[in-house]
Amino acid sequence: MGIDLSGKVVIVTGGAKGIGEGCVQKFLDSNAIVISFDLDDSSLAIQESKHANLESSFSSHVVDVSNEAQVEDAVTKVLAAHGRIDGLINCAGIQTYGSVTDTTEEIWDRTFNVNVKSMFLTAKYVAPAMIAQKAGSIVNISSVQSLMSQKTVVAYAASKGAINALTRASAIDLAISGVRVNAILPGSVDTPMLRTSADMHRGEKSIEEVLADWGAGHPLGRIAKSSEIGDLAVFLISDESAFITGQSIVIDGGLSIQVPVILPGK
Ligand code: NAP
Repeated sequence: MGIDLSGKVVIVTGGAKGIGEGCVQKFLDSNAIVISFDLDDSSLAIQESKHANLESSFSSHVVDVSNEAQVEDAVTKVLAAHGRIDGLINCAGIQTYGSVTDTTEEIWDRTFNVNVKSMFLTAKYVAPAMIAQKAGSIVNISSVQSLMSQKTVVAYAASKGAINALTRASAIDLAISGVRVNAILPGSVDTPMLRTSADMHRGEKSIEEVLADWGAGHPLGRIAKSSEIGDLAVFLISDESAFITGQSIVIDGGLSIQVPVILPGK
């Protein structure tokens, strides 16, 4: 039997697509009340119609989570509708490319605003309700790129490292109030974002071939499904993880444990 989150109210940012969508589905499967925040209004409308039969347990708000006034307004509406917030999953994020010499200030600022400031803002407005409840759990989606890097991802990798630090600092602040904060560090996950990256870098190959190549770089031989990240998020929101806080939890099919020098003949 899976984890039962009946009665729990969970916000998922970036909930309309990719990892966020995988999280929304897993939380609904666990009987939680789920509110999806996203910038992409057309994908949110599709998600609304997909879950139209779950009127009381699924709703959505068009929100730019890097905008303080919009975050405050959306969180206020959730509290007015449900009276509590038990979980916050921060999935909204953008992938940007550029080296240390060619990344513009505009790209740097946008990357940090969407990837890091948004997680500070959502926690800032959600945590007071959790503190009042003396319980709650926040999960920030970081990346293995917070620990290891590749070329031309300077702003993205730095933003992901900042998320791990934000997670630890918030976890320390909120622990005494019974509120936990953890980060999930995925390897490659099959989402619209990853497919866009594959398309940008595919050369003569198809997107499917690039994804298969990237999957082969993970010792388990494939990239992840967004539902697999959702399973970990459900665990981290549930009481099954009640003594885990401030952690950066890697879920990458072994990508980050492998020395990339292959012995001859192996
Ligand atoms: P995705 O497929 O692009 O989905 C992200 C969703 O967030 C999109 O619907 C996007 O809307 C929305 N969003 C972007 N900026 C927003 C904002 N300011 N306010 C509200 N919503 C916003 O991305 P994903 O691959 O699921 O990635 C989710 C998170 O996981 C990101 O933080 C990413 O860095 C991280 N991650 C992904 C992978 C991977 O391989 N996919 C690996 C490690 C970590 P628009 O499309 O309209 O922008």
